Amino acid sequence: MSLILRNRGQGLWMVLRITAEAASAFFITAAIIDAGVGMTRIGRYLQTIQLIPAAFALSLSTIAVWIGLTLIFGRIYCSTVCPLGALMDLAARSRPQKRTYRYSRPAEWLRTLFLGIFLIMAVSAVIPRQWIEPAGIYSEIIAGIRWPRISLGTAAALTAAAAVTITAWRRGRLICNTVCPAGTILGIIARHSAMRIDINTDRCIQCRRCEQACKAGCIDMLSHTADMSRCVVCFNCLPVCPNEAIAYTTRRHTLSIPMMQSLKPTPQTQICDNTSTCSPTSSKTELSNPTAPEPEP
Ligand code: SF4
Ligand code: SF4
Ligand code: SF4
Repeated sequence: MSLILRNRGQGLWMVLRITAEAASAFFITAAIIDAGVGMTRIGRYLQTIQLIPAAFALSLSTIAVWIGLTLIFGRIYCSTVCPLGALMDLAARSRPQKRTYRYSRPAEWLRTLFLGIFLIMAVSAVIPRQWIEPAGIYSEIIAGIRWPRISLGTAAALTAAAAVTITAWRRGRLICNTVCPAGTILGIIARHSAMRIDINTDRCIQCRRCEQACKAGCIDMLSHTADMSRCVVCFNCLPVCPNEAIAYTTRRHTLSIPMMQSLKPTPQTQICDNTSTCSPTSSKTELSNPTAPEPEP
């Protein structure tokens, strides 16, 4: 209950998200191991709405739904329905010591490279399709653990399980924001999502707790923004804020304090502060905000 109420009730988003993710992963796993009629039916439905399998099956309605939902909510596919994302979260949470994350710059070239490799493999069919998309890899991992055999398939499944687990342990959702083709495609759309993680700079005390909680490493405290193309909408950053400064909302706060703007060098700049008079200089810097008020004479 306290988690729900934290940060003006923003913690509720996280509780709902984890519940949806756990239920989805449970039913999909039940379908893979054929656990029972009711559970299997729900799990099979969840498998049919996975993004890449829907694209392979040319299910335009499913693709349209995910594009629409991503445009509204961001990458909720990655935080609720993808079973491989759930496995990464489970692995990250099973760490004995809590991991703190840091902002990392986007590796767009790497994402584009892996998307290109994925497209080539999808068209050429050199590798079975289930091995190049997240839902298929999850199915192979579960099947390999449930029915282990001395075979190449089981060895590949166990290797994939180890790679996913160790990466999630060490770097959170690194795979989601570099390797996964679904993540790259959804990230392009999520850049323009209506709902987003917003930091109110008037309230932010720069404690960096949100950045340290972000397993996608996408909260940049210099610009006070979350990179929505990499944000997996997990809401881990919301309940940790001590000053109700971060929210999942349609609002857009921009930096209101000029000193927090990025700095850029200019050839001729008037530098003023409280301890000296204004003087022209050619080697210092000026605030990049063109709307910043002129200093009082
Ligand atoms: S980026 Fe890929 S692996 Fe990660 S949660 Fe999204 S679909 Fe799943
Ligand atoms: S900014 Fe980071 S912690 Fe916050 S919802 Fe997005 S991925 Fe999760
Ligand atoms: S947790 Fe809140 S106060 Fe701390 S840096 Fe993030 S937004 Fe600012």
